[in-house]
Amino acid sequence: MIRVLVVEDEASFVEAIKVSFEREGFTVDSAANGRQGLERFREHPPDLVLLDLMLPEISGLDVLRAIRRESDVAVIVVSAKDAEADVVTALELGADDYVTKPYSIRELLARVRAATRRRGTAGTAVTVGAATLDRDAYLLRVGEAVIDLPRKEFEVLMLLMEHPGRVVTREDFLDKVWGYTFFGDTRTLDQHIRRLRRRLEEHPGAPVIETVRGVGYRVTA
Ligand code: CA
Repeated sequence: MIRVLVVEDEASFVEAIKVSFEREGFTVDSAANGRQGLERFREHPPDLVLLDLMLPEISGLDVLRAIRRESDVAVIVVSAKDAEADVVTALELGADDYVTKPYSIRELLARVRAATRRRGTAGTAVTVGAATLDRDAYLLRVGEAVIDLPRKEFEVLMLLMEHPGRVVTREDFLDKVWGYTFFGDTRTLDQHIRRLRRRLEEHPGAPVIETVRGVGYRVTA
C-alpha cells in the first residue's frame, strides 16, 4: 500500500485529499505545518510527500531541503499560482513534480501515481563500458573509482545509460527526470549535463555524453 504524507495547513485541502486518496487505496497521513511535517516524515517514512510550499513555522522549501538531506522519497510540491520562482527552486532542490492551486484531485492522483511508478519500476543497476550506476546506493562506479552524484544528475545519467548509443530527447529528460512536459526553461537540463561531463572527464573509461544538436543527448562507452 502506498503511504502519502500530506503537509498542508488548509484543513479543507487535507480532507479532500484524504477522502479521494483513501478511496483509491492509498494510506494518507497529514501534518498542518512544516515542523510537524518533518516529525511525521521521520516517524512514519512515507512513499510520497505532497508538500505545500506556503506553510507555517517551517516553509515548504526548507522542509524539502531537510527531506532531501535524509531521503530520496518522491516529493510533489503544491504552489500558489503566483509563485513560479518557488517552483523552480523546489525542482532544483529535487522535487519530482509540482501542482498549482487550485488543482483537480484527478490531476493530483495522476501525478502521484506517475511519481510513484517512476520510482518503483526503475532498475537497480545499469552498466555501460567500465561504468556502473547503482540505484540503491546512488553511486557511479568507474573502474575502482566511486563517484557520489547529486540526485538529479544521477537520474539524468541513468536515463542516458539505460539507452546507450541512443538519443534521449530533451522532452524525455523533462518528462522522466523532472516529471513534467511543458516547462519553458530547459537550461536546467543543460546545466546538469555540464556538471556531469566535468565529473565524468576526471575518470578515464567513464561514458561520454554527446550533444545531438536540437534534439538531446546520447551516451557512449
Ligand atoms: Ca498553505
